[in-house]
Amino acid sequence: MSAGGEPIVALRGPDFVPLLDGRPHVTRFAPSPTGYLHLGHAYAARFAHDAARLTGGRFLVRLEDLDPQRCRPEFAGAIVEDLRWLGLRFDGVVVRQSERMALYRQALDRLRGLGVLYPCFCTRKQVREEIAEAGAAPHGPSGERLYPGTCRHLPETERTARIARGEPYAWRLDVARALDLTGPLTWYDCRAGWVEADPGVLGDVVLARKDVPASYHLAVTVDDAAQGVTLVTRGEDLFHATHVHRLLQALLGLPVPRWYHHNLIGDRDGRRMAKRTGALTLRHLRARGTTPTQIWRMLEPAAAATPACTGSAGC
Ligand SMILES: [Zn+2]
Repeated sequence: MSAGGEPIVALRGPDFVPLLDGRPHVTRFAPSPTGYLHLGHAYAARFAHDAARLTGGRFLVRLEDLDPQRCRPEFAGAIVEDLRWLGLRFDGVVVRQSERMALYRQALDRLRGLGVLYPCFCTRKQVREEIAEAGAAPHGPSGERLYPGTCRHLPETERTARIARGEPYAWRLDVARALDLTGPLTWYDCRAGWVEADPGVLGDVVLARKDVPASYHLAVTVDDAAQGVTLVTRGEDLFHATHVHRLLQALLGLPVPRWYHHNLIGDRDGRRMAKRTGALTLRHLRARGTTPTQIWRMLEPAAAATPACTGSAGC
């Protein structure tokens, strides 16, 4: 039942029950408090909630608030309130990544001990210039140019000297070296099936930023393991990130969950519904008198129109 006493209507789209493996699953909804929740968030939260409830598992909520510039406390409070209004009860306390830096630091130390990290001193502008100079810089799955690995080749003496001078740096993952340690990896997606990991697809990703001693990839991997998440449900825009997360799990000796990359809810023009496109927030809809039941009905056609995910095409 929702907070308002209305029954939660069934969404037809995420017909994932037959795809699961009969175990009770621990899932999570992990938004960033950089704005109010919109319909796309409601769908993602509902998806994780239903997967947990239908398997007799647990539904957790985690706030990915690593970025002090973009995250705001009022949005964090609003997220929890909106979930309650939607009738999505979660288990346990809300976990905040900003309070877990010690865990990320430990993981980073371990990776550094394995010799799979290198400091990157490049500014954003330098990275752009290096990509232009490299000419044939590798491309990511969306056609974006990837970091060409400039700092991977710096001599140890130069690294030490620049760090000693106080030059700011990020830690990047040396993907090739990491793969030498782990060998080939696979992971399981409930729509795509078994996937061969291709962790180089995003290049040598940043694991600790210059301003924050962690990054999305590191924190998500560490937290999902620490929270006992067994089924990671999230939008298919993060399909390629999973290649990197699978590699991090292997390096850190963490348990490997299943993944379910679900479709993204588009707006009327079929664009991805993101905060920056000015999508309707749940607050706005609620203020107009929309009920949670109406929210689920609004999501139903979009959910039913889920295209089949092939995985290899990156969904
Ligand atoms: Zn660099």
